[in-house]
Amino acid sequence: MRFLPVFLDLKAGPLVLIGNGELAHAKLRLLSAAGARVRWYVTADERSAANEFSTEQVEIASGDPLTDSLDSVIAVLCAGAGDVGAAVAARARSLGVPVNVMDDLQHSTFIMPAIVDRGDVVVAVGTNGTSPVVARRIREQIEALLPARIGDLASFIGRWRKTIHARIAHAPLRRRFWERVVDGPIGAWILDGKSDAAEAALKSIDDASAYAGATDPGFVTLVGAGPGDPDLLTVKALRALQDADVVFYDELVSPEILDRIRRDTPRVAVGRRVGKPGIGQDAIHRLLIEAARSGRRAVRLKGGDPFVFGRGGEEVEALRAAGVAYAIIPGITAAVGAAAQFEVPLTFRKEALRITFLTAHKAHDAEAVEWSTLTDEQMTIAVYMGITAAPSVRAGLLAAGRSPQTPVGIFARATRADAKAVVGVLNDLPALAAAVETGPAILIIGDVVAHSAPWQHAELSSVASNLMAAE
Ligand code: SAH
Repeated sequence: MRFLPVFLDLKAGPLVLIGNGELAHAKLRLLSAAGARVRWYVTADERSAANEFSTEQVEIASGDPLTDSLDSVIAVLCAGAGDVGAAVAARARSLGVPVNVMDDLQHSTFIMPAIVDRGDVVVAVGTNGTSPVVARRIREQIEALLPARIGDLASFIGRWRKTIHARIAHAPLRRRFWERVVDGPIGAWILDGKSDAAEAALKSIDDASAYAGATDPGFVTLVGAGPGDPDLLTVKALRALQDADVVFYDELVSPEILDRIRRDTPRVAVGRRVGKPGIGQDAIHRLLIEAARSGRRAVRLKGGDPFVFGRGGEEVEALRAAGVAYAIIPGITAAVGAAAQFEVPLTFRKEALRITFLTAHKAHDAEAVEWSTLTDEQMTIAVYMGITAAPSVRAGLLAAGRSPQTPVGIFARATRADAKAVVGVLNDLPALAAAVETGPAILIIGDVVAHSAPWQHAELSSVASNLMAAE
């Protein structure tokens, strides 16, 4: 981020606008509509453009912006780059006044966002100055998404905030109070234009703390975070992350997903880190139980799906034993995420009728697998945590009689920005595993891998190179 979005107080002073032409006129309209007082430096022939505004809104300045006082001016906007822009920018900077030279990032200390204006709700969309068209498209999408009266809802809460503050001392409980107002009938009435009903309903709340759920028991939500791409979070998962009072997360959860947690929510890393042990499963159980018993909404955030090699089952049993309420939100498991990204149909009519998910964390895990149950050619096998045990996986499957030519794929960091796929045959599995660098990786073994995009791609390029060799 190069430009930090902030909101200027238009009551604090006038804005200075310098320049002529359509760009300047557009800014004049925008600033006046926003309620700004504008001091406009403009040549005589264009002054009439100010006629549609009152003198309160737009004051024509006749002096020289390079020497006139800029006392109490909150920002300077200059239409017209070039020498004027550079000189204006230098002056504003020397006085510490924010300056924007239109279409000239180099001389600007701020830029204007695309704006969604719904009264007290204002959304500013920026692209660091790279693309106003993209900013406008985003604005359109946000416009379509926001209820028309969302600004009324904000003003309503603004009017009541002090009163409720005085009645609920505990900040997290206050937040919950307002969440209930926004999500419940009161919020719905405001958005529906029935502000009298909303006002009456809020007034009639006797015990604000009870309304906020002060005596509600806490609970734990086990949330599947999916394989890494934050857009693969379910709607429910996102909501749980936004509503949580505390989040306990695993090492596998990507930073982009942690970004979707409300900013002021405490987050606690409890998983194993590379080279370092985690706090241990019993300690995790204790933390979850304590959090719920203190009335908090705890989220236990896990990579992929909580119930696929995620020890979610053990956590549920511990919560049950402790009498703590819980809920489970599934996530997209790594095999399924990798399969979608690299186009591996995990089942395929007549070719693959069964799927097995197994784990082979260490060689001794792999040795414990009963490979003879996995020789069915119509079975796709997904191996979690199988990279270091790749030689044992290969040995086990070959000994059990699976063909050394069985297609295999290794998919590392699936659905993340740096995802990588390597495909080949079972016989070469250890070498393939060595070819993926760090990060979690999943092995998929079975004929279906030959349908995958990387396999098809490899075939095409080997056909091409054979052709070239033949020429
Ligand atoms: N509960 C998780 C699995 C946890 S076990 C799930 O459902 O996906 C950890 C293993 O999952 C890793 O060793 C790796 O094999 C696999 N894994 C997790 N995220 C992955 C990703 N983005 N790409 C490839 N494999 C991944």
